[in-house]
Parts: sequence; structure tokens; C-alpha cells
Amino acid sequence: MTLKITDIVLTYPDGDRALTALDHVELAVAPGEFAAVVGPSGSGKSSLLAVAATLVTPDSGTVTVAGQDVTGASQATKTRIRRDHIGIVFQQANLLASLTTLDQLLVMAHLSGGRPGKAEGRARELLAAVDLLGKEHKRPHQLSGGERQRVNIARALMNRPEVLLVDEPTSALDHRRGEQIVTLLADLTREHGLATVMVTHDLSALTSVDTTFTMADGRLSQQE
Ligand code: ADP
Ligand code: MG
Repeated sequence: MTLKITDIVLTYPDGDRALTALDHVELAVAPGEFAAVVGPSGSGKSSLLAVAATLVTPDSGTVTVAGQDVTGASQATKTRIRRDHIGIVFQQANLLASLTTLDQLLVMAHLSGGRPGKAEGRARELLAAVDLLGKEHKRPHQLSGGERQRVNIARALMNRPEVLLVDEPTSALDHRRGEQIVTLLADLTREHGLATVMVTHDLSALTSVDTTFTMADGRLSQQE
């Protein structure tokens, strides 16, 4: 399993009590597997992604990413694991306003110390995969919402992650563009052998996923 989450408990302080956001959660995703997590607002979906992304440290339980146990790792190690092994796509594209499409991707390679020449080839390949060739020199304000989300996805794949974590990628898009993004994620998952977890409200997104999990009150269960 490329991503393995075992017996995770996460609580947030809530006045003089604690709010249990993740209640003994188990999740395992294999290479090339596209998993979806659905559930009502406030049920713990984003918290699960934050733990899987090593951005939030759970109270207990273990997270293994690409064979490395992240439990108890230092911040520096977690930062490196995120940079080299995890692609993160959140709801808002969070692109840098002043950068062109191509540069949004090249920045990622620069952060990981990749060779600039090689990085440009990789960036162009990914932009072709998300159907953005011809838009390399556009800045975010010159792109549509769907295009920005595709830049976001390409950027997340720049450093060849094994794990892809996606939070509500279609929420800012109309139905048709939302569907295209989900199909694209399914294709990329298979082609790059990614272990992908997508959180979604959009039940029509589930036609292209392999496994569906439901989150309710911090408890995760697999749907048959
Ligand atoms: P979802 O993504 O399913 O909407 P979240 O994981 O964002 O759910 O939130 C789960 C629960 O944890 C909610 O009750 C939310 O209010 C609470 N929560 C989320 N983040 C924090 C935080 N940083 N501090 C305190 N409570 C939080
Ligand atoms: Mg959320």
C-alpha cells in the first residue's frame, strides 16, 4: 500500500472539551487506485487529508507514505516527504498570481533541487496531459476556473509523487467541467500509478473511482 493510515484519532481543542474529528480511522490505498471519500460537511474529510498529507499530527495512530512511517518524524522529514512523495490539490487552486502556467510547475522542481532543463520537459509533458499546451505563458487571471484547477493538478504531479490528495476539486466548477476534472484525475491515477484520495460532495464523481469511503462523525467506512 502506498498510503496506509492505521487507527488514527485526531481531536481538536473545543472549549474545555475536545472535538473528535477522526475516530479510529483506517484507510489503505494501493498504487493506481482512485479512492473517494464522501460525507457531510464537518464530518472530518479535510482533517483526514491533512493527516495523510503530514500537515496535521494526529493524537494517535500511524501514517505510512510510500513505505515510510511518518509517525514521530521531525518537521523537516515531513516537509521532505510532502515535497517528494505527496501531491496536494486543494479546493482553491492557490496559484501564484504573478507566475505563468509553466513557472507554477517549475517552482516545484526548483524547491526539490531538480535540474532546470529536465524540469521544463516534465512540466510540458504534464501540461499536455492536462490539455493546457498553448497556455504555458498565461497567468492565473487569464485562465478559467477549470484551467486553473488543471494547472493545480499538473503542479501537484511535478515532483513525481506516489500519493495524490485532492480536496473537493469540483466545488468551484460547473457540472461538466467538474466531471472533466474527475475523469482527468482517474486517468492520471492509472497512468502514473498514483494512490489517489479525493474528497468530494459530488456523487456523480463516483462513477470513475475504484473505492468509495463514507465519513460520518469522524468515522470512515468503506462502501460495498
Ligand atoms: P469536512 O472536511 O468533512 O467538512 P473537517 O475535517 O474540516 O470536515 O472538520 C471536522 C470537524 O473538525 C468539524 O467539526 C470542524 O469544525 C472541526 N475542525 C476542523 N478543523 C479544525 C481546527 N483547525 N480547529 C478546531 N476544529 C476544527
Ligand atoms: Mg472539508
